[in-house]
Order: sequence, then C-alpha cells, then structure tokens
Amino acid sequence: MKIARVETFLVPPRWLFCRIETDEGVVGWGEPVVEGRAEVVRTAVDVLAEYLVGQDPLRIQDHWQVLSKAGFYRGGPVLSSAVAGIDQALWDIAGKTYGAPVYALLGGPVRDTVRVYAWVGGDEPARIAEEVTAQVEAGFTAVKMNAAGRTSPMTTPAETAAVVARVAAARDALGPHRDVAVDFHGRFTPASARRVLQELGPLHPLFAEEPLLPEHGHALPGLVAASPVPIATGERLYGRSEFLPALAAGIAVAQPDLSHAGGISEVHRIASLAETYGAQLAPHCPLGPIALAASLQIAFCTPNFLIQEQSRGIHYNREADLLSYLVDTEPFRFTEGQANRAELPGLGVTVDENAVRAADRSGHAWRNPLWRHDDGSFAEW
Ligand SMILES: [Mg+2]
Repeated sequence: MKIARVETFLVPPRWLFCRIETDEGVVGWGEPVVEGRAEVVRTAVDVLAEYLVGQDPLRIQDHWQVLSKAGFYRGGPVLSSAVAGIDQALWDIAGKTYGAPVYALLGGPVRDTVRVYAWVGGDEPARIAEEVTAQVEAGFTAVKMNAAGRTSPMTTPAETAAVVARVAAARDALGPHRDVAVDFHGRFTPASARRVLQELGPLHPLFAEEPLLPEHGHALPGLVAASPVPIATGERLYGRSEFLPALAAGIAVAQPDLSHAGGISEVHRIASLAETYGAQLAPHCPLGPIALAASLQIAFCTPNFLIQEQSRGIHYNREADLLSYLVDTEPFRFTEGQANRAELPGLGVTVDENAVRAADRSGHAWRNPLWRHDDGSFAEW
C-alpha cells in the first residue's frame, strides 16, 4: 500500500484538516493546525507531502522521524503541527487497515470512559454561576475558565480580587465534588502569577494552566514551589525535549496538544515521560473533531491520564463547531461528563467529506485578538 494523495482543507471556524488517501482506497484524516496560522501550516503540509506520496503509510515511526528531522531545521509550532496532523491521519489509516482502534494498536485500553471538561467564558461572577450551573445540569463534573482578561504587568488589588471572585463563584456553583480549572493563558507576569495563585489556594482549583509564558519556563521551578495550586502547562510546547524541563520543574499536569506536539506518536511518548515524573496528562484541545478523536485515543490507553479538554460551546467557535463535520456525532455524545470508549477502527470518527470540501471553498482567515494596555503597549492575549 502506498500514499497516493495528501490534501488539506481550511474549514471554519479556524481549523485545517488533512486527508491522506492510499492507492488501495484507505483514507485517513488529521488536523494539522496552529490557530491563527492555519494557512502557514497548510503550506508546511504541502512541502512534507512531496516526501510522503509514494511511501508506505504504515511506517509511521519512520515517517515521523523523517518529517520531523530530515529538514535539518526542526521543532516549532508550524512544523510540529504539520507533522502532528499527518501523524494523526497515518494512525487513522493504520487502524482502518488493521481493523482496530488506535488505542488498541498502542497497547490496548486502560479505561472505559474518559472524563471531559466544559468551558465557561463569562466575565462577570453572576454570569459564571449561571454558566457553571448549566454545565453541571448537562452532566459535566469539571469546567475550565479563563482567570482574567487583559491583565496589568503587576496586578492591582482589584484585578487580583476579581480573579478570586470569579473562581469563587464557580466553586460555589460546583460544590466540593466537582472541579474548576483556571487558565491563566500566559497573561500574568511571574510576580503576578505568584500573588494570584496564593489567593486561589483555598478555592482548591483542579489546576492552574499556563501561569507563565513558555519563554519564562526558567521561572517554573520557583512558581511550582510557591504555588498551593497544581500547575499545568504545555499547549505551547512542541515535543518531549520541551516538556522535559517543565516536568523536572514539578508541573502536575502536562498539556500537549495532539495537533501541535507531533501528533499521536509524540504525545504518546510525552505521556510516558510525564509518568516518570508523577505528572498527569490532560491534552489541550480547543480544536476540531479530528484533534479531539486523536486525543481520546491517547486518553483510552494512557495510565496517567487526568481529563480531556473539548471545544463544545467554546467562545472561539462561531460559524461551525465540533459536530459540524461528522457523519455520526455519537463519539462525542458525552454522558455524565464522560466520553465512552467505542470499538471503531482508526480514530473512531467518520468525517463528512462533502461538508469539509464545501466549507473549504469559503475557508476562513481566523486571527486571535490583538490586545493593548491602556498606555498603548502590547498586552498578552
Ligand atoms: Mg490554555
């Protein structure tokens, strides 16, 4: 069997899908994307496809090595995300060829259900209580929210109090048997992060995500030591070597993105690396259905898996959502906040190819917001 064709599709709200077809008619799907840079990743996939066409799709490990390393320059979000989407599609082809789910090819399931969390985005404490209650009523046992919007380099007492009030509102609505995770989104300086984390301790968040920007990783050991809240990070780390110092710093939760950190192959290895540090895996996934399907395959076969992000109802997605491009939405019908394990081959989802081809004709040009402080200087989004 040989790879005959590699295609990409730029689909709303902000995704890029990849379709790999073999000369025997087996088709695999992947989601190679960097949010806001989808066209750039599309070009990277086109370049990598020059090598792939004519190759045996089942030599996944070798293709990963060649695609990641044979260009001499390596790493970074664009190349690692291009490789990630291709890797997902190759695993999909392998599963369909062998008649097995990807988790079975990776050693078999270690669990039957996967806990997922829902996003709440409201800025006002009153709205947060309402949104959290709606997710609890939908069966979710955990939610995640942003800690704050645009944030001063040194948080004022009012800003710090606002973060605490929002998380407290969520905690009140959740009670003591459910969880709230707080995403700092790299919006806080190390000094502000330390201050805010101290105050959040009594509210017992599940974890605090990206309290520091990835380029401030050298400050992680001190922050972990000072924080009463478990620290999570990883959506902007692109491989094992970038997770190593974060894990050594003592993060509690590793959050590789299946569409950024080299795909199923590399995230499987990152999970094992995390296990040696006693850290849990919670794959980042505010993305589309193929990235989530790939994430769930990892979740079902990873012992040190914690919880899965998913994008239903997320504030970024307007024109289309998680279920827009699937023939059958059953794989993402969550019961009591859990995804159920199925025996379907490959990634376990059937992509609606007609819908994808139609959506690609209009495409999208999604960009993240550009924020500025009151004095006109750049602010982290
Ligand atoms: Mg995040």
